[in-house]
Amino acid sequence: MTLHIPFDNSYATLPDGFFARVSPEPVKTPSLIAVNANLARDLGIDGLDDPNLAALFSGNALPEGAAPLAQLYAGHQFGQYNPQLGDGRAVLLGETIGQDGTRRDIQLKGSGRTPYSRGGDGRAWLGPVLREYVVSEAMHALGVPTTRALAAVRTGERVVREQPLPGAVLTRVAHSHLRVGTFQVFAARGDTQALQTLFDYAVARHYPDATDPALFLDAVMRKQAALVAQWLSLGFIHGVMNTDNCSIAGETIDYGPCAFMDSYHPETVYSSIDRFGRYSYAAQADIIVWNMAQLATALLSLMPDPEAAVEPFTAQIHTMPEMIRAEWLSRFGKKIGLAHATQEDATLITNLLTLMQDSEADFTNTFRDLCEGTARDQFADSTGFDQWADVWNARLESEDTPMDVMRQVNPALIPRNHRIEEMIAAAVAGDDSLFHRLNTAYATPYADDSHMSDLREPPMPNEVVQATFCGT
Ligand code: AMP
Ligand code: MG
Repeated sequence: MTLHIPFDNSYATLPDGFFARVSPEPVKTPSLIAVNANLARDLGIDGLDDPNLAALFSGNALPEGAAPLAQLYAGHQFGQYNPQLGDGRAVLLGETIGQDGTRRDIQLKGSGRTPYSRGGDGRAWLGPVLREYVVSEAMHALGVPTTRALAAVRTGERVVREQPLPGAVLTRVAHSHLRVGTFQVFAARGDTQALQTLFDYAVARHYPDATDPALFLDAVMRKQAALVAQWLSLGFIHGVMNTDNCSIAGETIDYGPCAFMDSYHPETVYSSIDRFGRYSYAAQADIIVWNMAQLATALLSLMPDPEAAVEPFTAQIHTMPEMIRAEWLSRFGKKIGLAHATQEDATLITNLLTLMQDSEADFTNTFRDLCEGTARDQFADSTGFDQWADVWNARLESEDTPMDVMRQVNPALIPRNHRIEEMIAAAVAGDDSLFHRLNTAYATPYADDSHMSDLREPPMPNEVVQATFCGT
């Protein structure tokens, strides 16, 4: 059979200035690493037995109906506005409407140079491609809104970073690749007409009830507040929350230097380029508000009187910390077994986090062990924990099924950094078995699978990953 993707392309119908039509650059000897059959089925894609999959998912051949293009966007990178970014190493093949009736983008990442490549080579190396494949699919299984991974291919070429490394291409699926930075690029240029066109497109695609910019802003803020609270509840650190990596659809996008923390500390940073901790674990709740303020600023020029809209938009942004706090309380409440945590429960949660911080307790295992009655072992200060547990147990008396509540939100498995690094090193040496094993394990992160119990272990001191790197 031949691969069939039921394309239904809408972005390609937008005005010329929104993108550049560009084909993927062919690669030498593509070979398939993985294709995600479940996701393909959900997207209405068939013909996965096509012998040409490696060519198709590397960009050497185009599936019928594809209309490849690179999208334009801008963005604040570490707080500095960059007026021109865009897909420098990715092309959108097109969109499909899945079994659920939802439109999704299908994008090749690492597919060669585009007019937005600036100094870059348009390529990706194997490490970040496999990392994004495993972590984005794990996030999906954990229940977090995220882009997905449809396929990964080795290119048979070397890309030069600090050293020559094997090249790869990822096929990424997203509810869209509209970013805060997509709004910023037209707003900064004063192109109100393009901004209006983009707004109408985004509303129709993602928030059909948001008939004006204020409603739209509110809808994006709610999605992002829920998303970031969910990241916090899993110990996830995105690592590079630039406005170009902030999705209008509210999903996790761009798995560059992201990481799950092992031992709990709110100031944890992994990204090698995040020197001042702008995107540390706890800072994420503040940075997302900052990012939404940039979206609000971009939307101002759509208002009949932009000057007069500054005040109400500012007031709207000021509602976001409370949104995040409410989402945080609900998520962390469930993590300690409270189906509906109230304001009075917040101290119980923060007291536990403080004890965890003092004991450098493993974030994931401590919460999972709470369901299993073994959490005490995580604490150097067991008296402190016992005192906390007395208060907690008293509070649990008014809950119906606290253990069930906890098991649904406290995973046994998360993609730990040292496992990801180990998997990448094996794949670079030509062994993909760990990659496949991790995908299998992380597909059911809330289950108790004794065959996967080694993946629950935190790193040994010599295995601790100190820094993560952007995917470039
Ligand atoms: P990121 O840090 O992945 O969000 O990328 C930031 C910007 O740099 C985006 O415009 C990317 O398309 C671009 N970029 C990153 N890596 C490369 C590369 N190897 N070649 C060309 N452009 C790149
Ligand atoms: Mg990016």
